[in-house]
Amino acid sequence: PAPLAEHGPAQIIAMCNQKGGVGKTTSTINLGAALAEYGRRVLLVDFDPQGALSVGLGVNPMELDVTVYNLLMERGLTADEVLLKTAVPGMDLLPSNIDLSAAEVQLVSEVARESALARALKPLLPDYDFVIIDCQPSLGLLTVNALTAAHSVIVPLECEFFALRGVALLTETIEKVCERLNPDLRLDGILATMYDSRTVHSREVLARVVEAFGEHVFHTVIGRTVRFPETTVAGEPITTYATNSVGAAAYRQLAREVLDRCRPAE
Ligand code: ADP
Ligand code: MG
Repeated sequence: PAPLAEHGPAQIIAMCNQKGGVGKTTSTINLGAALAEYGRRVLLVDFDPQGALSVGLGVNPMELDVTVYNLLMERGLTADEVLLKTAVPGMDLLPSNIDLSAAEVQLVSEVARESALARALKPLLPDYDFVIIDCQPSLGLLTVNALTAAHSVIVPLECEFFALRGVALLTETIEKVCERLNPDLRLDGILATMYDSRTVHSREVLARVVEAFGEHVFHTVIGRTVRFPETTVAGEPITTYATNSVGAAAYRQLAREVLDRCRPAE
């Protein structure tokens, strides 16, 4: 990809699937790091009270005084009071911890409760090329906030037997948000994760996913490898932890696909 002469405004991507353990957080970190390698300015938003994205970037969520929660709920707080630089040049993090679980309840009584995150992110958009929101495994108000803020959605699907179960509910939610809150939202892609080419099973699941979603499925398929759990322990992306690995190459390929698909509408 060509380097950029100038940066922003950012394309916002929600990494979303209400099923846990499908590779949302792993894909957020590694797609972000790969985009940053290509010279894009990237902001990762930890929007899961579990704080796994923060942990995966070497941040201890328990030690944070301010998080994305404060940015959502407190007027007058600016993003640079919450932003953390990561070890990856050009990639920043809006961290989160268990405090965020209160927002789900507290936002209910707010005016424009679905657009709190969009409001909080708006001042940051000129500074970045991509914002990637790591959603929690639910379709609750926090996830609706992510979908309302986003231009596009990436849905990681684990190449496992029940992968497609629940996807209809997710696409319905995306359609509703599109109708009522964010007409520009599009399903950018289905990302097959944890693919094991040695098993017939993985191949069958992938074939069914392609049958169901056609051109929405990214050509990039993320293979299953122990390297990914290792990176979580190391607190860094696979692109720096194992820079020449198959996993790092896969996320670089995904980044190139995203750069092709996410051209900003002029
Ligand atoms: P989610 O955010 O959807 O819950 P994670 O990204 O946290 O999912 O992944 C769940 C677990 O699976 C983590 O331990 C992660 O390290 C591991 N994992 C993610 N992607 C892969 C992969 N391609 N191969 C093997 N393990 C993976
Ligand atoms: Mg996660």
